[in-house]
Amino acid sequence: MFSTTDSIVAIATPPGRGGIGVVRLSGPEALAIARALITHRGEIEPRHATLTTIRLKPDPTTQPDPTSAQLVASDSPAGSGFSRTSDAIDHAVVTFFPAPHSYTGDDVVEVSAHGSPVVLRAIVEAALRAGARHAEPGEFTLRAFLNGRMDLMQAEAIADLIDAVTPLQARTAFDQLDGTLTRVIAELDAELFDLVARLEASVDFPDEGFHFVEPSVVAASLDRLTARTASMLKDAQRGRLIREGFTVAIVGAPNVGKSSLFNALAGAPRAIVSDVPGTTRDLVTETIDLDGFRVSLVDTAGLRESADRVEAEGVQRAMGAQAVADVVLEVFDRSVPAVEYTPQVIDNKRLNVFNKADLPAACDDSRGVTVSARTGQGMDALRARIVAALDGDMLRDRPAMTNVRHIALVERAHAALLGARASLEGSGPALSEEFLLADLQAARTALEEVSGRRAPEDLLEHIFTRFCVGK
Ligand code: GDP
Repeated sequence: MFSTTDSIVAIATPPGRGGIGVVRLSGPEALAIARALITHRGEIEPRHATLTTIRLKPDPTTQPDPTSAQLVASDSPAGSGFSRTSDAIDHAVVTFFPAPHSYTGDDVVEVSAHGSPVVLRAIVEAALRAGARHAEPGEFTLRAFLNGRMDLMQAEAIADLIDAVTPLQARTAFDQLDGTLTRVIAELDAELFDLVARLEASVDFPDEGFHFVEPSVVAASLDRLTARTASMLKDAQRGRLIREGFTVAIVGAPNVGKSSLFNALAGAPRAIVSDVPGTTRDLVTETIDLDGFRVSLVDTAGLRESADRVEAEGVQRAMGAQAVADVVLEVFDRSVPAVEYTPQVIDNKRLNVFNKADLPAACDDSRGVTVSARTGQGMDALRARIVAALDGDMLRDRPAMTNVRHIALVERAHAALLGARASLEGSGPALSEEFLLADLQAARTALEEVSGRRAPEDLLEHIFTRFCVGK
């Protein structure tokens, strides 16, 4: 993938202007390169903030070598940290994290300057001239993984934490970063390892009828393991919903106020609101934090027969959005008498919303939610009903597993364990270690892929290129 022995540099803070911006350097030359950029000549104490001045042109006659005290002439007393050379660009705080106790496990230097894109880019360019290479997306975290600072689940958790939309998502990602899933997988693997070792001993010493492990012990162990993987998988359905979020579709006849309701829920006027029926011809989607849940809100075109081809296409998509939605809000205009209102469709998935509560009522249903998208009346109650329909309160527990990659692999491990259990059942009193071992190895392989102990290069590339540069 990338070389892991050179020194890399990138801006670690988000694009744009801010109070502080951080440039991160990692690799064997990180400190030497940093020294070439600063006027400070004294020692750079590990993990301490060193205030200094950034200058853009290292002396071309010297190499970036930490032992070379003459590297950059300073016009101020040694160690004061300030100089007034013509190419000085900013004051900055430099922090050196020596290997292996750094984010990446290599020598890391973080340069905190003012959050000006111009300054930060200039620092990166000066670092490149001093021998660094531009970091690829996710490369700092990839190095952390390759240096054993974290496993693959934790590396993925960092991406999830950065991408989190709701506090619940952030906390769930942090649990994974903190090693919750790491520990669960390690426990499973320890039990599997023990079982495999005993079965292999039986294969290696095939003395008449002698087994290192009794079939009943194997059965009990397999039952414990499959109970564990089954409960992880059950839990993971919630986890996946927390990580990926829910879909809430807004449907209903034209002009009942779907777009207005969408805007009221999204908190920003995005969908086109108009009083000409059939204006919302495409699906408009917005990701929102609904009471702590990540929700993709979908506004659909007016559901009606249409001769207009474009609108008919919109209606098709609206039907599709309804089919995949976790909750469908069926919107009615409460100020006009109900036409085709079918109460039997009320279920967990579908909520009837009576809009325009600010106008005189012409229809109503106590099982529906009455709101006014215009005045905001009833909107809190609607949010609460949506969360209830999502089984939200049950979801507030933080599950260990959230990522489809992990779920698919644990499913594979679970299937292999069930296979082992079945062959044990079928073998009667004569334990067939070889058969069992094949399944148990398959389960171990799957678990090792979760943690990244077994990580093909294309998998690593797939995971780390999703990161942004500087992470
Ligand atoms: P859609 O076709 O279902 O998406 O409906 P729109 O959101 O475009 O709204 C249709 C019309 O109803 C617009 O003129 C809105 O201003 C109006 N409208 C929407 N919600 C309310 C409401 O709560 N009260 C009142 N009085 N008018 C509303």
